[in-house]
Amino acid sequence: LSRPVESGRVYIVGAGPGDPELLTLRGAAVLAAADVVFHDQLVSEEVLGLARPTAELVAAGHRAGQPKREQRAVTAAMADRVRRGLIVCRLKGGDPFVFGRGGEDLEALLAEGVPSEVVPGVSSALAGPAAAGVPVTHRGVARSVLIVTGHQQDPEGGLDWDRLRADTVIVLMGGTRLGAISRAMLAAGWAASTPAMLVSWATTSRQRQLQAPLGQIDERAHAACLAAPALLVVGAVVELADRFLGARESVGVS
Ligand code: SAH
Repeated sequence: LSRPVESGRVYIVGAGPGDPELLTLRGAAVLAAADVVFHDQLVSEEVLGLARPTAELVAAGHRAGQPKREQRAVTAAMADRVRRGLIVCRLKGGDPFVFGRGGEDLEALLAEGVPSEVVPGVSSALAGPAAAGVPVTHRGVARSVLIVTGHQQDPEGGLDWDRLRADTVIVLMGGTRLGAISRAMLAAGWAASTPAMLVSWATTSRQRQLQAPLGQIDERAHAACLAAPALLVVGAVVELADRFLGARESVGVS
């Protein structure tokens, strides 16, 4: 556990789903050593609290509308700090490569000739369901998992739900589009009775979850005012939560 954290490179670090104890040891070592931390909005205060007190913290999310421009600016700022001999950490929620634009950061840094190291993180896509008592696979219940984005990239809505199939479906970034997503899944053949769950602020003290059939999840989630960040889990495994959550202590569960 003593690989050095060096200046002259950017560490692209997965911050995990929220709970600071779910940060990797390597991630914590990088955070403790970094002179400057460029973090996206999803990273929790507690995780940022693991940075050196003297570290410079720079909020660098991808604001809607200007992602390319912001990416260029952040890359330039990181390259500048690296050339000044600083240890630079690019901190992203969950895992950097799971809808985290980590690959884009890597491409941009490569183009600038800046060496980087990727430190994987615990993705909310798997940790979110787990924290809510849902195993994404379970013998005899589910043996395939699909992770998709509910984010609307283009006016047509993007995802070809007729082609997408798995025993367990996990939708990230679907909070505000829950209605459209659940309707699209129903139209593509998922039964209205398919168990579904929305988990918000998973692994944090604000965690809440709501279980309802797919046909009702949108209406129920609105009524319960579940806040972003939230993820949707669809599939028979959701029903295991009744037993599995009861088997352990959990914080803030509704
Ligand atoms: N790279 C991240 C995902 C980035 S996309 C990862 O691997 O976790 C952002 C989406 O992730 C959010 O819209 C939400 O759907 C999900 N998300 C991230 N953190 C979450 C959390 N603590 N609880 C529930 N959903 C979360």
